[in-house]
Amino acid sequence: MMRPVIGITCSRVVGGAWSQNSPGHFMDYTFDEYSSAVHHCGGAPILIPTTQNHESLQSICERLDGVILTGGPDVDPHFYGEEPLSGLREIDEAVDLTELAVVKIALKKDLPILGICRGLQVLNVSEGGTLYQDIPSQVRESINHLQKKDKRVNTHNVRIDGNTVLHSIFKRRKIRVNSRHHQAIKDLASSLIATTWAQDGLIEAAENPSKSFVIGVQWHPEGTWEKDPFSKKLFHSFIRASKSAAKQKS
Ligand code: MN
Repeated sequence: MMRPVIGITCSRVVGGAWSQNSPGHFMDYTFDEYSSAVHHCGGAPILIPTTQNHESLQSICERLDGVILTGGPDVDPHFYGEEPLSGLREIDEAVDLTELAVVKIALKKDLPILGICRGLQVLNVSEGGTLYQDIPSQVRESINHLQKKDKRVNTHNVRIDGNTVLHSIFKRRKIRVNSRHHQAIKDLASSLIATTWAQDGLIEAAENPSKSFVIGVQWHPEGTWEKDPFSKKLFHSFIRASKSAAKQKS
């Protein structure tokens, strides 16, 4: 059977290794962990370039069977009606605009979406939700969500609501996850339901119950899928949903 094609959104750096050839230009990139997980679980990954060309994004999404929204810079608070606070870090409006457009198109087509870290936040903002711009300065007595250890290491527990798609995937009420974020959901978009929380009450995952598969997690399953069974299960069910989406198209 043909593999479902999974579009993966990018972040950007100026120049990169070849910057002398194209000064002032950007390179779209994403970590190979995302595509490795997709390859391993039976999907065919392809990168979605950063662009404001809506017709191109529409045509790209026509050919996709699923979308992964990746980790990346902070979302510009302008998109949820706030001024920047001092705790805000790097933003990239072009990446925001690309991902917000992709989410809109994907939701309309009911494409499976897996939002990872920033991806969960983009899902929330795209549907009218807001974010904490900086957890340590805005949330009293929050736990450490910006672990020093790399993404392969799980560092905090999360509690999962029993009546959710995420629970039907994990079949556990409590798992341990990695944590590399300093932003989090503040007001949840009305189209989403929170499914998972950290001990400090911050939302660690959400899903859209009116769609076939729209799940966002605040942690990084692409960093742990090789060893962590829950991360692997999440990618497997996302690819399974994308296979069904592909079947319905043909
Ligand atoms: Mn966390």
